[in-house]
Amino acid sequence: MPPNHTIHAVMVGMGENWRRSGIMPCVRSEIGRDKPVPYIIWSIEGPDGVVIVDTAYHPDYVTAEWAEGKMFIEPPTLMAEIGVKLDDVKTVVVTHFHVDHFTGFDFFPKARFVIQRAEYEFWTGPLMCHEYLNKLIRPKVRPALDRMMQEGRVRLVDGDVELHPGLELLRVGGHTPGSQMIAVQTSLGKAVICGDVAYTYRNLHERLPVGWYTNLADSVVALDRALTTATNPSLAYPNHDLGLMQGKRVVRVI
Ligand SMILES: [Zn+2]
Repeated sequence: MPPNHTIHAVMVGMGENWRRSGIMPCVRSEIGRDKPVPYIIWSIEGPDGVVIVDTAYHPDYVTAEWAEGKMFIEPPTLMAEIGVKLDDVKTVVVTHFHVDHFTGFDFFPKARFVIQRAEYEFWTGPLMCHEYLNKLIRPKVRPALDRMMQEGRVRLVDGDVELHPGLELLRVGGHTPGSQMIAVQTSLGKAVICGDVAYTYRNLHERLPVGWYTNLADSVVALDRALTTATNPSLAYPNHDLGLMQGKRVVRVI
């Protein structure tokens, strides 16, 4: 049996509602609602050390307008609550390149970032000649990414990969071309950190794909995969549901 892991969710910031956060919700009826949006770093602790999933965001790498009012707390302060020193983190899995998942990379100065090759090639490829797409990866991110590539701090993977025993990357695409989820062995069975395959529990429980995607069919299939991979539906974790946080900034989810 693969070893068990524990999982913490760490909320570095919170948007006041879907619309202001630029997140398209799963269903039209939720567009106008005041629904808070948490921005989360996941910490997975196991015998092979700490693996971080996503870096959330860094205020210097997003627009001032987007960062405004999100009650940002620097990740080192929050992660200290669970005894994780960011200088010691060796591995960060990036579910996808959206600003609220990747631009916090500077908080992890020694880490190697594990990214699907399809994700990297999309955001650095010929489609970036379209300004709409290009502006989604903020201007300061691209040179930083180039630098990390040159330093050997980016590991590109293709498809499903076992990172450590009990910790598996699942490439699903849909939301972005190289979106990946993380399947984690825990004492309660297999859990899945879904990334933006699911913003909320409602996406999962009603099998409603999120409103932002590059491939709708893959988004639908990805939800299925999250729910069939997790030992039970309560072990599939969406990325932007405030219910996860139980009113706290740092919470052990399993
Ligand atoms: Zn996203």
